[in-house]
Amino acid sequence: MILDSLLSWFSVDMGIDLGTCNTLVCVRGEGIVLNEPSVVAVHKGTNKVLNSGQAVGWSAKEMLGKTPGSITAIRPLKDGVISDFEITEAMLQYFIRKVNGRSRLIGPRVVIAVPSGITTVEKQAVETSAINAGARLVWTLEEPIAAAIGAGLPFAEPTASMIVDIGGGTTEVAIMSLADIATCESVRVAGDDLDEAIISHMKRSYNLMIGEQTAERIKIQIGSAAPVGEETSIEARGRDMISGLPRKTVITSEEIREALQEPVNAIVEAVLRTLERAEPELAADLVDNGITLAGGGALLRGLDVVLQNATGMEVRLAEDPLTCVAAGTAIFLENIDEWKDTLESSMDH
Ligand code: ADP
Ligand code: MG
Repeated sequence: MILDSLLSWFSVDMGIDLGTCNTLVCVRGEGIVLNEPSVVAVHKGTNKVLNSGQAVGWSAKEMLGKTPGSITAIRPLKDGVISDFEITEAMLQYFIRKVNGRSRLIGPRVVIAVPSGITTVEKQAVETSAINAGARLVWTLEEPIAAAIGAGLPFAEPTASMIVDIGGGTTEVAIMSLADIATCESVRVAGDDLDEAIISHMKRSYNLMIGEQTAERIKIQIGSAAPVGEETSIEARGRDMISGLPRKTVITSEEIREALQEPVNAIVEAVLRTLERAEPELAADLVDNGITLAGGGALLRGLDVVLQNATGMEVRLAEDPLTCVAAGTAIFLENIDEWKDTLESSMDH
C-alpha cells in the first residue's frame, strides 16, 4: 500500500475508455492525451495485425475503404463484445505504449472502462493485455459507472441515478445507487445502426449506394429523432445501383428522421424496459434525479425530447457526451484509494 503510493510518484496513472468506436486515454493531472478510432488494420484472411506504425487508430481508419485488397480495417469491439482477442490486445497495447512511451521506468496504473456486455473471460483478457503492455496495476470499470462518474452523478450515494450511454455499437442503460449497478441492459442498437438505417433508406428510396462514412456525415449534419430547429436538406453522393455510375441527390432532414425512427424506437424501448425493472424505491428517486444521456449517439438532435416524452421524466445531456466516460476514469483515478474496493475486478503484478 505505502509502496504503491511511493511507486505512483514515479509512474503515470492512466484512464482508458475502450469504446466500440473511439478509444480515449487520459493521464492523471493532464486530462485527455489520446482520442483515436478503435480500428485496427489487418491482413485479410489471416487477421494478423499489420506490422507497421499505421496499424491502429487514425491511420488505420484512414485506410478504411482505400486499402489494397490484402488489407482490411477491423473494429474489434464493434458489437460490445470482443470479436478477436489478439486484435483487441494489439490495439490496447498500441494505445498504452503510445501514451506511456514518453514516460518513466515504472509501468502505469491503468483503469479501463469496458462495455458492460463483455464477459468475465473477456474482461480478464483486457486486463492481461494491459499487463503485457507494461501496466503495473489494472482495474476494469463498467462503462455505465464510468459514464455516471464523468457526468457528475451521485453514483456512490444512497440515491438512484440513471445513465443512458449511446455509443457506436451498443447502448448501455443503467440505474445505479451506492456505487453499484442496480439494473442494467446493454443493447446492440446505437450510432452504427442509425448510419445503417440511412444507408438502407438511400437504397430503397433512391437506388443509391452510399458508404458508412457518408451515412454518418448525413446523420451528424441533418439527422434528428424529433422535429427540433429548422428543417434542412443536403446533397448525398454515392453510386447508382442500376447504372453503376456516381450520382448525387438531395435529401431532407424530415426523411432522415423518418428513416431513423426504427433504431431510435429500439433505444427508447431499452430505456423503458430498464425503468420497468427498477425497484420502487429507486424508481421514486429517479422522479427527481431524471435520466442523463452520454456517448456520441446522445448528440442526435431531439433524442432527449423523444426520451422525455416516452418516459415523462426529465432528460439531460452530460456536459460532453463524447468524453464523459474518459472523464469518469480520470475522476476514478483521483479517488482510487477510496473507490477501488467497489470494483469487481483488478489485477496486480
Ligand atoms: P463508443 O463509446 O462506442 O466508442 P462514442 O461514444 O464515441 O462510441 O460515440 C460514437 C457514435 O456517436 C458514432 O456512432 C457517431 O456517429 C456518433 N456521433 C458522434 N457525434 C454525433 C452527432 N453530433 N450526432 C449524432 N451522432 C453522433
Ligand atoms: Mg462509449
